[in-house]
Amino acid sequence: MSDHADGGTEERPRYTGVICDLDGTVYRSGRPFPGVVEALERLRAAGVRVLFVSNNPLQNAEAYATKLSALGIPVTPDDVLTSGAVMASWLREHTPNARVLLLGEESLREELAQVGVKVVHRGLEADVVVASFDRTFTYDKWLEAFRALRAGARFVATNPDPTCPVEGGEIPDCGGIIAALEATSGRRVEAVAGKPSSLMLAAALARLGKGPDEVVVVGDRPGTDLALGHQGGVDTALVLTGVTTPSESEHVDPRPVYVLGSLAELPSVVLGR
Ligand SMILES: [Mg+2]
Repeated sequence: MSDHADGGTEERPRYTGVICDLDGTVYRSGRPFPGVVEALERLRAAGVRVLFVSNNPLQNAEAYATKLSALGIPVTPDDVLTSGAVMASWLREHTPNARVLLLGEESLREELAQVGVKVVHRGLEADVVVASFDRTFTYDKWLEAFRALRAGARFVATNPDPTCPVEGGEIPDCGGIIAALEATSGRRVEAVAGKPSSLMLAAALARLGKGPDEVVVVGDRPGTDLALGHQGGVDTALVLTGVTTPSESEHVDPRPVYVLGSLAELPSVVLGR
């Protein structure tokens, strides 16, 4: 171990990888929280690899990279992992050449098409139903998905979130569409790509090229961000800039390893200085 002395050799970071939530952790309403841009810069300058993860399947990695770069956090699409990308990988691996009925928006259809997924519109032609965040959801789509599931199609989804935070409140998300399909078809979703699923964690660790003990997960939602780490033996840090209040943070179970006022405090945890 090196010395703490000023100008001495730098110590090894406690973690060499960070799995970092976006909304409520890095920014809200498109504005980064104070000190966050500088903290991320410090971590990356110290050689820590930061992977930004989002359950929102409406935007792909490229769109997030553009958005983050515009906020002063220069990243490439390789630094971003979305539930849509994890879903696309799952389909390619588990159901190659399958015909997919998608309850999702055009952006996700394009993302799936890029990996060769064939999207169909009639339930009885589908081998797989993919439920997603779909602001174009209609009774007709619901009916086709119902028919597909009743006929035995596989059933997967991009993300489990019941709602999505937006300016001034929340709007219904993929969790509601999964519930509509489950309630009517009698089927249960077999895999969900987004946090807190093991699919997302495995994809994140693979992208970072690191093991669970080299990485910390940071986010504002216990049920998704912290659960992602807990189920895979990855240390967790809860930030209080998002949905969890300081008093709620005292009752979070299981306990995160760290509770931070903001992501701006993460360098002290990760770098140990
Ligand atoms: Mg969040």
